[in-house]
Amino acid sequence: MQISENSPTVLVVEDDPNIVHMVSIILNKSGIKTVGARDGEHALEMLNQMMPNLIISDIMMPNMDGYAFRRELLKRDEARLIPFFFLSAKGKPHDIVHGMELEADTYIPKPFEPDVLLAKVKAVLRRYSHLNELLQYDALTKVFNRRTLEANLSAELNRVKRYKQPSSIMLLDLDHFKNINDTYGHDFGDMVLKKISSALLENMRDTDYVGRIGGEEFVLVMPNTEKKTGVLAADRLREIIARLVFDTAGLHVTISAGIATAPEDAEDIEGLMKKADLALYKAKDSGRNRVLAAE
Ligand code: GH3
Ligand code: MG
Ligand code: MG
Ligand code: MG
Repeated sequence: MQISENSPTVLVVEDDPNIVHMVSIILNKSGIKTVGARDGEHALEMLNQMMPNLIISDIMMPNMDGYAFRRELLKRDEARLIPFFFLSAKGKPHDIVHGMELEADTYIPKPFEPDVLLAKVKAVLRRYSHLNELLQYDALTKVFNRRTLEANLSAELNRVKRYKQPSSIMLLDLDHFKNINDTYGHDFGDMVLKKISSALLENMRDTDYVGRIGGEEFVLVMPNTEKKTGVLAADRLREIIARLVFDTAGLHVTISAGIATAPEDAEDIEGLMKKADLALYKAKDSGRNRVLAAE
């Protein structure tokens, strides 16, 4: 699953359940998913595990109000980029000015017009989906770039900790790719990278996602997947790639991969990558075109 292909999700931060309900009905009708948080604190907790496409926030709420919540978001690298609306009963000009000074995309006073809210949500989701394509994807291969991959993997590892379900990663590297470039040229090498990326996107499972983390290195994330299953899935992908044909002379390109599983091998990105990298190194050392799991 490359995230943005899904229907968009809006996080509604609001202490009044009636408003959450109303906003949900309006947006759900247009195929936009909604998730509710009862105040700023609750929303911050949820953002550790999810990445909504838009946040709509009330201002007057218990524990952490909308202003404090927004200021907290602005300190966070990823979260500050999520489109943000204020939706508040505080509707005086100076309230709106204050809200916009906190870098909101818009400020909607209550009571609000359902059609106007929906139109604003749709407009911002559309614009950001174009922007996200540029920001989130690798231009050559159309898989996630390193930054997006790591942001999603980090949320994934928080879920692993919380729900005690394992997730696995596949770190893969093209075999003897320098030879391909040296023999057939850099453009041909680029075409190989594109074709292998497409094969990964087409053949990975629905819940998996993949990113390019270096020149010819990729990470495929397999949520809710224990090591044994991860190795089988990775080996299936390896076989599919090994069967691809890249020129009329029947050229094949293979990959090697290392599998690491959270939490058993490591619980953070750095540790997990290190374990996967060690396994990858062994896979290369023992002949390439193979998948090995971290020990
Ligand atoms: P190994 O099997 O040990 O991985 O050998 P290798 O030749 O694949 O490894 P090495 O790290 O020596 O070479 C990686 C090559 O990948 C070097 C570089 O020319 C190529 N490469 C990296 N990024 C790109 C890219 O964006 N396009 C193309 N065409 N080639 C790239
Ligand atoms: Mg309120
Ligand atoms: Mg490499
Ligand atoms: Mg290589």
